[in-house]
Amino acid sequence: MMRRDFSQLEEYGPFDVLVVGGGIYGAWIAQDAALRGLRVALVERTDWGAGTSQASSKLLHGGLRYLEHFKFGLVQRALLERRRLAELAPHRVHPLRFAIPVYRGDRVGRLKMEAGLWLYDRLAGGKQPVPPHRMLSRKRAMEDWPFLGTEGLVGGFTYGDCGTDDARFTLEVVAGAMVAGAVCVNHAEAVELVMGKQGISGAMVHDALSGRTSQVMARVTVNAAGPWGGNLKGMRAEGRGLARLVKGVHLVLPALPVDDAFLLTARRDGRVFFLIPWYGRTLVGTTDTDYSGDPGEVTVTPEDIEYLLTEAGRVLGANAWTESDVLGSFAGVRTLINTPGTDSSPTDVTREWTLESPQPGLLMPVGGKLTSARVEAAITVQHLCSMLDRAPGACPTRRRPFAWAPRDGMDYADWEGGVTNAGTTLGLDPATARQSARRLGNTLTTLHQRLREAPDLARRIHPDLPFCMGEAVHAASQEMAVTLDDVLRRRVPLAILARLTPEQVVEVADHVAPELGWTWERAADEATGWCEQHGIVPRS
Ligand SMILES: Cc1cc2nc3c(=O)[nH]c(=O)nc-3n(C[C@H](O)[C@H](O)[C@H](O)COP(=O)(O)OP(=O)(O)OC[C@H]3O[C@@H](n4cnc5c(N)ncnc54)[C@H](O)[C@@H]3O)c2cc1C
Repeated sequence: MMRRDFSQLEEYGPFDVLVVGGGIYGAWIAQDAALRGLRVALVERTDWGAGTSQASSKLLHGGLRYLEHFKFGLVQRALLERRRLAELAPHRVHPLRFAIPVYRGDRVGRLKMEAGLWLYDRLAGGKQPVPPHRMLSRKRAMEDWPFLGTEGLVGGFTYGDCGTDDARFTLEVVAGAMVAGAVCVNHAEAVELVMGKQGISGAMVHDALSGRTSQVMARVTVNAAGPWGGNLKGMRAEGRGLARLVKGVHLVLPALPVDDAFLLTARRDGRVFFLIPWYGRTLVGTTDTDYSGDPGEVTVTPEDIEYLLTEAGRVLGANAWTESDVLGSFAGVRTLINTPGTDSSPTDVTREWTLESPQPGLLMPVGGKLTSARVEAAITVQHLCSMLDRAPGACPTRRRPFAWAPRDGMDYADWEGGVTNAGTTLGLDPATARQSARRLGNTLTTLHQRLREAPDLARRIHPDLPFCMGEAVHAASQEMAVTLDDVLRRRVPLAILARLTPEQVVEVADHVAPELGWTWERAADEATGWCEQHGIVPRS
């Protein structure tokens, strides 16, 4: 159980390390440092993964397109990490077959694509969770993907990568940090860095629930605030310009008739973008545009929607989606290494990662990917150890199964099959039973126990999507969800996958209220506030 306790920040300090920001980088840094025996605090302004980490394309991948930029090392590291994550978290990392239809006039023709995919397979090495690529004739491509436009189609390819649920991935890494002894508190914002004699010595942290602000002292502070990193009060000017911010948008559309993901090339600007199956919907993204506003205010514009629908439509032909098909959307802000004086387009900027030390006592990771964050967190903690005069030892996250991974040594498919059957006997429909196994891992037993006590919680929250009401309750009681948005956006991603009705939102609020200590009036207010924020109007 992930228990939130702000007072631990006050009582357990001073810490060796204060990590500011509970995205994937902060989460891995906290877990790795705690496993190495350091006293660790991790604070998050809103909720775990609520920044860039919930807005990714949800891929654990090498990044085929980076081969065009000759970033072989970057791709190879990410592919090796894809394999490692699939071993450590088989419930969280799922193989995806990608399709690449090739059309006459595409920027990357068949020969170049074949060479790129051959190299991708070679860089991946053995024991990968996905099969190697295959070339498909035009006839076979038309048979496999009959809904695609056929004009100019010359053939295609398939290759493998992996997908995940990014917000739950991040949540589980935080859970692992807590198991390792880190004090982790969400809805706790570092409002200002504290300047000590030797440099930064912690931060003032504000508790959004109690309204208290406390000084959290630490020998080293890590600014893992992602796109907010430059705004942290107390940072010197040299720490502010380290990152270039780039916005990326995804649209949520109905499912395609196949389980494949698609890698496509936009005709307008030659950019690669994806169609990705996710919980019975299709994610279409991403865009890539420079961004200079508040990362918390990033929005999806009509131009973003037009770009993605038009480019997807070029391939889907007669089956193209229109704006009325869009079920949801989300935007995130990527942090890229800023190289002043270059005028390269956001798409051409390296996705490499670097560790900066803009002030004494302060470290700041910049750039990177969901896929490679574990390795880069380990590099950060090695650096931390040298600042603290501690021997770093071996990387502890390298072989450690995720906190909610099914028992070690158990065949994953057997485990998933068994618990899916158990879920259906408790009243879950098969798709929800299977997804809850993947989403909750070994904590599923707690959900099943609750369903035994209250079988009514087995029903879906939204009829089209595989999330049951029991999961919302589980989120509030076991997973440190504090607000309705924590439940409806990250513990279950309904907020982006469906247009919820006010009745559905009220029902969820009523069910989580006892777990969160809300009165019925408070639950009604929370539901109304959430609906207003998401533009959901009551039916008259
Ligand atoms: C559109 C898009 C698609 C992507 N797709 C992929 C992909 O498919 N695969 C992949 O590997 N990578 C992908 N990435 C990259 C990946 O998502 C990011 O590298 C990663 O999520 C960055 O994590 P982070 O922890 O650095 O930042 P964040 O997730 O933004 O975390 C920073 C956290 O700090 C918190 N914070 C800010 N200020 C404070 C404060 N003062 N006090 C406390 N907390 C604070 C924020 O609330 C936030 O939660 C994608 C990125 C984008 C934008």
